[in-house]
Amino acid sequence: MDNEKLPRRSENFSEWYNQVIQRAELADYAPVRGCMVVRPYGWAIWENIQKALDDRFKASGHVNAAFPLLIPMSFLEKEKEHVKGFSPELAIVTIGGGETLEEPLVIRPTSETIIGHMYAKWIKSYRDLPVLINQWANVVRWEMRTRLFLRTLEFYWQEGHTAHATEKEGQDETLRMLNTYADFAINEAAIPVIPGRKSESEKFAGAVHSFSIEAMMGDTRALQSGTSHNLGQNFARAFDIQYLDQNNELQYCWTTSWGLSTRIIGAIIMAHGDDQGLVLPPRLAPIQVVIVPIFHDDNEKSAVLSMAEKVKQQLSDFRVKLDDRTEMTPGFKFNEWELRGVPLRIEIGPKDVAKNSVMIARRDIPGREGKSPVELAQLTEEISSLLQKIHVNLLEKATAFRDAHIFDPFDYQELAKVLENGWAYSYWCGSSECEQKIKEDTKATTRCIPLDQPAKTGKCIVCGKPATEKVYIARAY
Ligand SMILES: [Zn+2]
Repeated sequence: MDNEKLPRRSENFSEWYNQVIQRAELADYAPVRGCMVVRPYGWAIWENIQKALDDRFKASGHVNAAFPLLIPMSFLEKEKEHVKGFSPELAIVTIGGGETLEEPLVIRPTSETIIGHMYAKWIKSYRDLPVLINQWANVVRWEMRTRLFLRTLEFYWQEGHTAHATEKEGQDETLRMLNTYADFAINEAAIPVIPGRKSESEKFAGAVHSFSIEAMMGDTRALQSGTSHNLGQNFARAFDIQYLDQNNELQYCWTTSWGLSTRIIGAIIMAHGDDQGLVLPPRLAPIQVVIVPIFHDDNEKSAVLSMAEKVKQQLSDFRVKLDDRTEMTPGFKFNEWELRGVPLRIEIGPKDVAKNSVMIARRDIPGREGKSPVELAQLTEEISSLLQKIHVNLLEKATAFRDAHIFDPFDYQELAKVLENGWAYSYWCGSSECEQKIKEDTKATTRCIPLDQPAKTGKCIVCGKPATEKVYIARAY
């Protein structure tokens, strides 16, 4: 790692983002343009994300399975909107084992089609419902403009696919999973996301309604951080997913799909990071506490290291790393672990050994203000309480930042102005013409229509016609 300072976040956000990822060793560019290599530290964050989500999925009755990477091209063509939406991004295999294939195979961009095909085979009766399956997988979408974590040709995610007996059950599931994502984002990633419905033009190809959680990044741009789709009977009709109801009549199922990807790591970087680098939310941080021993000679070394080992053992309930590398100075290590976003640092020097205490430094509060001495007897409790405080502080900071950058513009002219440095929350008549005009004039898009709406109606910010709903509008990643 080189010692040059990171670009300032306020001056060049995009370069800051790229360099943080590289220098913190989260990910790297792959030989194929647009692909990414997730390095061990980045993957460790993803594993913690997986665990937090997987526990929630299972608690609500979902199970995991694995479906194939290759999908017959004809499957995608069965759902008209779906193939229209995805065909520009498809990677297609035409040769296998040296022979031209009879039917081209698509590398999955998402798995509604192949899972729909299997559900048609597995679901026979109302007794088989609901089917609540999730898979952890990688998918390929041939994106032209890519950025590490935010938009890559191949990415990792989970996709849930469920089938239900009634329309209401399908809609309930769609919203349940939307709320699961919001709960995860807020309580694990400390990102205050806004859940809501996507507009017609922004919805998933083949869905009846799409919902998303939207997060504000440190440069005020929006990031769609998870989506949940009510697919109605569209895929059930395309794939003949039918069941015999209690009256022995054949009915089409109601299906949903929902996904959250490695994109959320980009959200964590951009929502919490600062000029020193990453600031990881404690519940997802691969290393929650790093111990840095400080000594000047061999005598001090053995006393300090033995106490450091003892502290590490005492804190075995947390994810702790003892940085006992001897070829680097403590100052170098401080910078490195700050860059890598470790929530807490414990410093142990000869004076601390003498006093049977350690110095703790918080990543979220830089400098002296974030440092405090703690006696060993209180250490375990104190670490637990500090990690909790850091989570709360990150969430509060991100919420205050978000709320300070959401505006209710008075007219269309003001709308364009506020979108330069924030989001607008405005009445919109629902027409795609008005939506398109905003996009052409400002490059901003409608992000989501929150489920909780103000009681009174208003006037569309674009055309002035009566409007019943308010929508978030922002430039987005
Ligand atoms: Zn309008």
